[in-house]
Amino acid sequence: MEAKEEPKEELKEEIIESVEHPEDAKESSALKEDRKGFDTSSWKPKTELGEKVKNGEIRDIDEILSKGLNIREAEIVDVLVPDLETDLLLIGQAKGKFGGGQRRVFRQTQKKTREGNKPKFSTIAIVGNRNGYIGVGFGKAKETVPAREKALRNAKLNIFKIKRGCGSWECGCGSPHTIPFNVTGKCGSVELTLKSAPLGKGLIAESECRKLFRLAGIKDIWSKSKGQTKTKLNMIYACVIALKNLSEMKVPLDKEKEIGVRSGKLQAR
Ligand SMILES: [Zn+2]
Repeated sequence: MEAKEEPKEELKEEIIESVEHPEDAKESSALKEDRKGFDTSSWKPKTELGEKVKNGEIRDIDEILSKGLNIREAEIVDVLVPDLETDLLLIGQAKGKFGGGQRRVFRQTQKKTREGNKPKFSTIAIVGNRNGYIGVGFGKAKETVPAREKALRNAKLNIFKIKRGCGSWECGCGSPHTIPFNVTGKCGSVELTLKSAPLGKGLIAESECRKLFRLAGIKDIWSKSKGQTKTKLNMIYACVIALKNLSEMKVPLDKEKEIGVRSGKLQAR
């Protein structure tokens, strides 16, 4: 069933999403451990920006993000956002008897060539500090491990700030537990609308989007989607686009104050 909807982006490739991967199960937990304690002494920066981060000239990720500078080394993010957590999204699916099995971290596609079928694995990694910063990255390779590493690196390079606040008219508490305004993100046929929710409502969203909100530090949210939401990739991208739109939204200052909009991390009070 699924195969009919997905091949849009890779016409020549057939989605088989079948192979069992023993790595899949321990994926998430393993990721959390191996990035603890980043050692800057062994890092040799390759870019000017990396150099500045290593020698302490730049100490805040906001200095980079507000100038719109391109981050080309994942280590920059490792240093500046030390409490970063990572997770992989379930974009693949195991073969099931009745048209769909368990969701998996790796999506497997294969190209038919003269030599035979060449499989490739792709995955989406997310990074976030549960406090206003989040990044999403796609990775694809012939094997699962390099695919995961690529995804993770891309997620770090694509880190951005989100806005939080309380835009819920039912709540109006002014604390940054939800999003300040309603936004929409579109990708392919999927249109996702995110809305402010009152305190304690929780994350009313599709499971992979929920992971994203959790790592971003959003506690309450409403969401509504249209289109082929089974196409996980488009669903996730729509969610990311919505969050990006949110952070780029310009609103009069007095209005921002009223809703209690905070961009990025929350200042300790
Ligand atoms: Zn509130």
